[in-house]
Amino acid sequence: MINEMMYGLGSKRSCIRELFEYGLRQAAVVGKDNVFDFSIGNPSIPSPPEVNEAFVSVIRDRDSLSVHGYTTAGGDDGARAAVAADLNRRFDAHIRPQNLFFTCGAAPALIAAIRALAVPEAEILAIAPYFAEYRPFVEANGAAFIAVPPDTDSFQIRLDALEALLTPRTQGVIVNSPNNPSGVIYTRETLGCLAEILTRKGREFGHPIYILADEPYRELAYDGAEPPFIPNLYPDTVVCYSYSKSLSLPGERIGYVCVPDQAADSGRLYAAIAGAARVMGHVCAPSLQQLVVGLCAASRPDLAAYDKNRTALYEALTSYGYRCVKPNGAFYMFVKAPGGDAQAFSDRAKEKNLLVVPGGDFGCPDYFRLSTCVSYGMIQRSLPVFRELIREY
Ligand code: PLP
Repeated sequence: MINEMMYGLGSKRSCIRELFEYGLRQAAVVGKDNVFDFSIGNPSIPSPPEVNEAFVSVIRDRDSLSVHGYTTAGGDDGARAAVAADLNRRFDAHIRPQNLFFTCGAAPALIAAIRALAVPEAEILAIAPYFAEYRPFVEANGAAFIAVPPDTDSFQIRLDALEALLTPRTQGVIVNSPNNPSGVIYTRETLGCLAEILTRKGREFGHPIYILADEPYRELAYDGAEPPFIPNLYPDTVVCYSYSKSLSLPGERIGYVCVPDQAADSGRLYAAIAGAARVMGHVCAPSLQQLVVGLCAASRPDLAAYDKNRTALYEALTSYGYRCVKPNGAFYMFVKAPGGDAQAFSDRAKEKNLLVVPGGDFGCPDYFRLSTCVSYGMIQRSLPVFRELIREY
């Protein structure tokens, strides 16, 4: 017999993948320049030059056996020390290298943290709009997935709705800022109020409610916005970080979990995360990539191209009558679907070779997502199609 849940997850392609693959097939028919694919969040700027240089220098200059050998499960000591030092310098934090656990990106980091908290009947909250993978990550790893409805005025957090959903079974709240799919950064005020609620309810329930801060887009912020470092606002925070987007390394699979000392039961929680990683087959994150991010801990992306795309699309679409909260982070825009049904809008757009992701799986079926990590030329070519589409409503 086959596990039906796993079969379902493995046999059904995500809507994003389906659109992306449709775009590739369609490009062969109508020509690449006539397909406007806003479906997938694959970085479109190259890694900073020092990152590629670091790959070369690690291979060239270091002992080959150690470069390609196993590290400890948590990771290379020198690389962890470099990452901890960078966090401490930037955020005035007190992270020790031993608080960090290198993983193959944010996804396994988050899954390990979820599994570590998945006591019987555990509930994990996610705030709509949310990354569509959160539901399977939570449900397949022993907890119930609880969605907090969206605040569509600003895509901040509906704190009253969130508080009403907290129960003694709540083990954690996934907080993703800058957000996929809205591109919005939660303000210090929003996160401060969230911290107050979780502190109060945690006391009432007699156990901590952890924030799982999913932060692959931390470095992607515009207009001078600075995403707050959540452990500085709420001690019981586990940070799940990735270099996939910040250093344009999604295929290299490198990120980390950070469990600061100040988090309740931090030593046991770190060990439980290591245990969860172990049963997922984690031995260590790729050692070459660990060494590279250790050398490049202070590298930041040049966001000019993403910023230009964001501004161009936002200004054009809103001038045509689309409604959208202006994103100040990540590389996405979340737009209200004309007609109110994003699936129907996406289907209609697809007929014109414009590929946009309907928001149902993000918990907002009346919005669609645009990935703005695309070429500026494609944005320019797509604008008449966006204009034509809204005129049909
Ligand atoms: N979390 C969010 C919000 C994402 O958008 C993504 C990837 O797109 C991930 C996690 C997974 O990132 P990684 O490639 O680091 O596993």
